[in-house]
Amino acid sequence: MTFVENIENITATVDVHKTMKFYEAQSQFIDDCTCEDCAFYQKEFLKTPLNIFKILKQFGVDLKKSIDIESDPEGLWVVMDKGLMVFCLSSYKIIGNFSNVDIDNSGTFDTNENEFQTTIQFYKNNENSITIFLTIKNLND
Ligand SMILES: [Zn+2]
Repeated sequence: MTFVENIENITATVDVHKTMKFYEAQSQFIDDCTCEDCAFYQKEFLKTPLNIFKILKQFGVDLKKSIDIESDPEGLWVVMDKGLMVFCLSSYKIIGNFSNVDIDNSGTFDTNENEFQTTIQFYKNNENSITIFLTIKNLND
């Protein structure tokens, strides 16, 4: 199954089945790290009704699971204050292609949703794989 989504002027064509298969083999954030911040991200923050979460899920991404990137085996960084998420950076991977984007090229989308500013930075690894760095910042903080 292929899922096509237009994000600004880029068409994302994603192999949902292969993306889901990739995530089956990955570990959960709470398996990789036992800190409270990672647990909060996985168990509470992912329930926030953000459009980007919805889109990534439609792509077949398991938001609870980490991808292995060289700099950080967990791929998640969370900053909390008084029980609230202030800032987080998470990394996800999709099997698919973005139109109008060359290999090794990257791009950025910014959106504001309620009290959050989300930034999607993506890198096209090859013709069939894209890494996404998702930054979410609480604008009330
Ligand atoms: Zn942690």
